[in-house]
Amino acid sequence: MKKYNFNAGPSMLPREVIENTAKQILDFNGSGLSLMEISHRAKDFQPVVDEAVTLIKELLDIPEGYSVIFLGGGASLQFMQIPANFLIKKAAYLNTGTWAKKALKEAKLFGETVEVASSADANYSFIPKDYQIPADADYFHFTTNNTIYGTEIRKDPDSPVPLIADMSSDIMSRPVDVSKYTAIYAGAQKNMAMAGVTVIIVKDSELGKAPRPLPTMIDYRTHVEKGSMFNTPPVVPIYSLLETMRWVKAQGGVAEMDRRARERAEIVYGEIDRNKLFKGTAAVEDRSLMNLCFVMNEEYAELEKPFLDFATGRGMVGIKGHRSVGGFRASCYNAQTLEGVNALVQAMKDFEAEH
Ligand SMILES: *Cc1c(COP(=O)(O)O)cnc(C)c1O
Repeated sequence: MKKYNFNAGPSMLPREVIENTAKQILDFNGSGLSLMEISHRAKDFQPVVDEAVTLIKELLDIPEGYSVIFLGGGASLQFMQIPANFLIKKAAYLNTGTWAKKALKEAKLFGETVEVASSADANYSFIPKDYQIPADADYFHFTTNNTIYGTEIRKDPDSPVPLIADMSSDIMSRPVDVSKYTAIYAGAQKNMAMAGVTVIIVKDSELGKAPRPLPTMIDYRTHVEKGSMFNTPPVVPIYSLLETMRWVKAQGGVAEMDRRARERAEIVYGEIDRNKLFKGTAAVEDRSLMNLCFVMNEEYAELEKPFLDFATGRGMVGIKGHRSVGGFRASCYNAQTLEGVNALVQAMKDFEAEH
């Protein structure tokens, strides 16, 4: 049976990315060696890193004065590495969910923090709008897409201070004005690559200002200066990242990714709102285009498990919601197809007809 991958992360990648990466794992550029066996310093691998950096800069229209680096440790390591490098006196954080809260927790280890707003009391079902960012903060940190709760900030917020964002689950799904940011980071396994690499975009002029000794590996300058080759980078994940960036470019870039995301979301949210069995969990104006969360309407609560089984029987994979929200989550990252969302919607319609 054909499977439709709605996993939240690691998640669906374009088929050709997987096939091309698989080929290089068997025989890297006709060298007779596997991508898994070559030195990261091999002359053939440097062009992989270089092209990946160039494509990221091109696709996100990154201005001069920014570096793109590839590290291990996931977005979770960035929760501490960001404040270690950029928190001088005070940092402002917006608490919109589990990941935002984790980022704030780590920042507290490095200095004064201000939680400008939180939607924790409403189980993070909306994005707070009325808040003041202190003008004397070093940066304003926010999570663009709340993977677990299905809310998203799809527009660079107005702020009196530079922005820093965790874009793990919606990077490359829309244009971004990078010039407003001191840093952008993303665990690549949602929208850019297989798991194992984190992409960090940093503004060079903001580096080296931290008033604390930084361990070599934590100082972004180490990795900027060595072109992500200070230590062994995750070679295979970086290769899959390159293939995904080539794919995004060939499809028409982030503007086209944005258009597709809107198209898919309209279809799925349209059905959630129409179907008598289901309702969305996030405030309508804050609905994520990447992670579409919905639950059974109260009177049909007992149909949750039966619908999960029904949809699974139709080939849907990974639609069970995160335990903190319950219900269902259809993750529709860049690689998600119209065929996939239409199959999900058809399953919702057919299940409704049976009940
Ligand atoms: C998945 C996710 C993370 C965690 O990423 P790791 O790479 O597993 O550390 C952080 N933030 C957001 C928004 C995520 O979606």
